[in-house]
Amino acid sequence: MSERGLDAAKRGHCHKLQMTYWVMACLLYEEGRPHQQLQAESNKARLQELARQGFSRVLVLGGCCETCDKLNGKKFTIAEALEKMFLPQSKCQRGWCVCDWGVDLNSFR
Ligand SMILES: [Zn+2]
Repeated sequence: MSERGLDAAKRGHCHKLQMTYWVMACLLYEEGRPHQQLQAESNKARLQELARQGFSRVLVLGGCCETCDKLNGKKFTIAEALEKMFLPQSKCQRGWCVCDWGVDLNSFR
């Protein structure tokens, strides 16, 4: 497989992982069971994918609830975001935290 093909395969894998965790988290949420851990894994896969694409910083896209909005627009390095696992926010007032990671376009290398 060419270098480029291998890259695409890795990207696909990471994206699938993100979607798989997300769907599993949704199912748990619908059943009223704890889903935050799987939602966090989904967000982790997303951060890893952004790092692979060449970004080094991300920012929180809030608009979820009052508590979550305190982090809205805050920037973190991807390493920091992966270490602290900010999303989903543990004190989110919604059942399902819709906060997401956006990329800091200036951090593209
Ligand atoms: Zn939230």
